[in-house]
Amino acid sequence: MTNKRLIVFLDSGDTLVDESSQEFDERGIVTRAELRPGAAEALLALHREGFTVCMVVDGEAESFRNVYTAHGLYDVPDAWVISELVGKQKPDKTMFLTAFEKLGLTPEDRSRVVMVGNNLKKDVAGANRMGLKSVWMDWSPRYFHTYEEADWVPDYTVSSPSELLPLMLTLEEKL
Ligand SMILES: [Mg+2]
Repeated sequence: MTNKRLIVFLDSGDTLVDESSQEFDERGIVTRAELRPGAAEALLALHREGFTVCMVVDGEAESFRNVYTAHGLYDVPDAWVISELVGKQKPDKTMFLTAFEKLGLTPEDRSRVVMVGNNLKKDVAGANRMGLKSVWMDWSPRYFHTYEEADWVPDYTVSSPSELLPLMLTLEEKL
């Protein structure tokens, strides 16, 4: 049952999934990958607590289905927005607008949407440019670790999936 106002957009690679564990087939599809410690628990807890959760992810639909089905989590999010199907990748606004459309949100809802991701250029800047709250999952050695542009600066920074539920509960109280 959804009873929270806050809406959580989540990245996958190096946010919930450990990208270094990914195994690929000959077509470049991810066949399996490990979740980061606490990631399954965080996703399940956000859902259980009544937050609307939308995965906003760059990659192939089959890859996400493989990985999240294997962990029993594919059907936990309320929606998936996948770049292969959208035809654009984050930080392109089309990815975020597609999520709004899938969830039936309007521009007035932007203040209650938060985007969580490890990539400053894609997730944080993408969210900031849309007027969403941004949370940087600062964990992976991959990608960027300095704010190369003014709109790469996150509203909040966490390093572990276990921090997500407490942060979202705090943000919900602030709405
Ligand atoms: Mg990522």
